[in-house]
Amino acid sequence: MKHTFSQELYIAYSICQNCNNNEFIVSGQTQICNDCRKHLFRTLERKYNSEKFKIETIEQNFIDKNKIIFPKTITIAYAYCNSIDCNYGEEVVDKEKVICQHCMNEMELRDKLTYILNYETFQCPICAYNGLYLPTFKENGIGSYETCPNCKFQFTYYDEREIKKYKEKWKRLKQ
Ligand SMILES: [Zn+2]
Ligand SMILES: [Zn+2]
Ligand SMILES: [Zn+2]
Repeated sequence: MKHTFSQELYIAYSICQNCNNNEFIVSGQTQICNDCRKHLFRTLERKYNSEKFKIETIEQNFIDKNKIIFPKTITIAYAYCNSIDCNYGEEVVDKEKVICQHCMNEMELRDKLTYILNYETFQCPICAYNGLYLPTFKENGIGSYETCPNCKFQFTYYDEREIKKYKEKWKRLKQ
């Protein structure tokens, strides 16, 4: 059966705090370090769209202060664990070897699809700065963890009162 890929996904730059390995992973999936099999720690994220749902945006410089350069295109594979009692599957960044997080078996890479970096920028709900790299909050209220370079607000999780309060404070500061 062919895997149905999502229209958009987030790629996270992740680091292994155990062996200092770093790699790009699909955000939201728990993934383990290929080198030492410990869990990876997610840092910055960027939004990607599948080829078919590519959004026409102007290419821009997305280099962060941490000097992380996200690839313009990235191949995502559907990885499947053939181990009889496992049968776990998930979308992963295509690489030579993918280890199943449940049974440590090597997974089979079934379908593949190319995703393209989304250069769209987003507006800050506090100060209206229009250059955020990520939508501030996802539907479940979880934030992007991005900090607005203008008003310094960090989008951790959605809290209406907190946002209102900070917005008032920002307004007063600007008067
Ligand atoms: Zn490691
Ligand atoms: Zn497995
Ligand atoms: Zn802001």
